This record gives sequence, structure tokens and C-alpha cells, in this order.
Amino acid sequence: MKVLHYLLIGIVSLGTISCTSPNAENEEDTNELITNTKNIETMKFEKVALPYATDALAPVIGKETMELHYGKHHQAYVDNLNKLIVGTEFENADLETIVKKSDGAIFNNAGQTLNHNIYFTSFSPNGGGEPQGKLAEAIDSKFGSFEKFKEEFVAAGLGVFGSGWVWLAKDDKGNLSIEKEPNAGNPLTKGLTPILGLDVWEHSYYLDYQNRRADHLKEVWKILDWEVISKRY
Ligand code: MN
Repeated sequence: MKVLHYLLIGIVSLGTISCTSPNAENEEDTNELITNTKNIETMKFEKVALPYATDALAPVIGKETMELHYGKHHQAYVDNLNKLIVGTEFENADLETIVKKSDGAIFNNAGQTLNHNIYFTSFSPNGGGEPQGKLAEAIDSKFGSFEKFKEEFVAAGLGVFGSGWVWLAKDDKGNLSIEKEPNAGNPLTKGLTPILGLDVWEHSYYLDYQNRRADHLKEVWKILDWEVISKRY
């Protein structure tokens, strides 16, 4: 039954991707399939499954942060979204459509559901290093080098005032950009495709780094899973 369940999620998600992501031509690209997680049996959104143990990313992101961030914050966004869409035009919509078309509380919770699905699947205890292939080429061509990209990305993350996200996104021609988004913002609302999103809400780093967002943004590169992230390009 479990296999059927995930197969169905895959089929539903694949349908969405073929409409919304023109560059997702690789059928083996399973990464995007797991960000649009609606359980076909209950018709409710679910958190993406964590692809590592809650203590696996320490010390970059500690176990307690992971338990609260994934276990409580992310769960609350998903639960709120499932409650808020009942009886609305979004009741049967997929997550990306809701993020693109909603506003107010539904947008905030849909955005955060999608954002955290992307975020938590961007890490690996064996992460680090640099992107490969087409994404590496696009980064070099846009930013000059991976190191320059890192500098700009960290600076953008530090430049988000208050709670929000810093994103690497692409347009439909594959051009990359760094996008600062407040609160639940996602580049999808600008017609862009999210490649990498780092959460700069304090709940993502405060237990490990207190107020030192810069230290967190410097360390997090050690756990980025470029194999997964590169497939989003
Ligand atoms: Mn968060």
C-alpha cells in the first residue's frame, strides 16, 4: 500500500511538473516529485519525508533545531494549509498552483509548505562541494565563479530584513538569479523556478547560532546536496 501511495504521489506530481517546469525534461528527476506532496488517499498535503536522520546534519544544523523546525514549524504550516483550503477554490489544487494564485493566510502556509519541502530535501550529511554539469556552467557564466556566487548569495541572505528566504532561481531560458523574499515568498510567484532556498527565519538557526545569521549562512554550504539541487536546474 505504501508503494502505491508514493507511486500515486509521483504520478500526480509528474502531471504538475510537465505543466509548470519546462526544463524538467529528465524523467529520472525524482527530486521535484517530492515537493508537491499531496496524499492521494486522504487528499491532504503532507510534509516531504526527511531524507536523513534528525541528528545527521549536526553540527551545521543540530538535532534540536531539526526536531523543532521540521517536526513543529513545518508540520504547523502543512496542518494550517490543509484546514484553510477546505471549501475554497484551492481545495483540490496542487501546491504550486496554490502558491502562485493565493494570498493572505493560504499563501503564507502554502508558501511555507513548499519552501520547507524544497529546503529539507537540499541537504545531506555527505553534502558540500560544488554543483556539477549544467548548473555549474550556469553559475560560472552568471556570477563568474562558484565562490563569487556564494558571496552574493550569503550577502543576499544577510540582506533579508526580518524573516524570509534567499533563493537561487531560474527563468524559462535557464538564466539564474538570486531572489530575496520576505516571509513565505517563493520565486514561483515571479514566474521563476526555485533551485535552492535557504531559510533565514530565526527558527532555522537560532538554537545553533543564536543571532549569528552570517555564521549559519557560512556553515550551511557544508551540507548542501548539490546532486539533488543540480537536478532542479
Ligand atoms: Mn522555516
